[in-house]
Amino acid sequence: MTYNQGVGLPLPIYEEQVKSILSPTSGFIAQAGFTHSLNPARNCTYGCTYCYVPTMRVHGGLRQREWERWGQFTTFKSNAPALLAKALRPAQVIYCSPLVDPYQPAEAARRMMPELFAALIRKPPAVITIQTRSPLVIRDLELLKELAGKTRVRVSFSLTTDMDEVRRIYEPHCESLEERLQAVAALRNGGIKTFATLAPILPCNPERLARLALEATENDVLGDPFHERSNKPAGAVTRPQAEAISRKHGYEEWHEPGFQARIAGRMAAVVRESGRKFAIGPEAFSWLAQ
Ligand code: SF4
Repeated sequence: MTYNQGVGLPLPIYEEQVKSILSPTSGFIAQAGFTHSLNPARNCTYGCTYCYVPTMRVHGGLRQREWERWGQFTTFKSNAPALLAKALRPAQVIYCSPLVDPYQPAEAARRMMPELFAALIRKPPAVITIQTRSPLVIRDLELLKELAGKTRVRVSFSLTTDMDEVRRIYEPHCESLEERLQAVAALRNGGIKTFATLAPILPCNPERLARLALEATENDVLGDPFHERSNKPAGAVTRPQAEAISRKHGYEEWHEPGFQARIAGRMAAVVRESGRKFAIGPEAFSWLAQ
């Protein structure tokens, strides 16, 4: 076990061998067109208060200590690069990762992603999408560029709010919007097809956030609101910690479907004005699989 200092706290980092690394998709990301998911670790040291992953419990492949102590440690799949090298096929459309940020703070020291890119470069799938919120992805820009010369590489970069005081209360261990926008610019300047994914949509100025996303990526914009158990009887939903924060700070309406639809409409209007598309749900995520 080693300790990760990336979030300002000593968090344990474990290693574990697993039996497989590419999982056939189901549900939301299968509807979007992905054939496989790739999760290099279990549990994410960003520990966002709204993260839907711990609400999936065993259905997300988690153990009880992981959903009960979400964000407090992580376990890297130590044999992931070797398993990936054997499992890759040319037709695969891979989403990395639905259950963890592949560039979570612990990745800075662990350096799992360069090993996975080495395998992907040797045997490229049809599409590989990296879902992250971390400027650490820039560390691997040269590997992303090399892979993009062989197959379709997409980076879906999470931007959640334009208000840093909001970011600090819902995702205190994540980087500021400014740092994320700089990372998006570096990806775009490096020729990597990069999308801004406004997910979950935190309290924000919707027009301003949509404009920042457009300026940063010059691409279509994806969105996704909070998901409440009261409106979604099964499947992944927003973690209850975020609901408590919203109640405390007077942001309850950001959890209401009608209000969410109006916010999405305001974002869509800005994005469409610039000739780009805005969508939420599987339709939006299908752009990442193409
Ligand atoms: S970065 Fe993503 S996977 Fe990690 S805690 Fe936050 S929402 Fe969950």
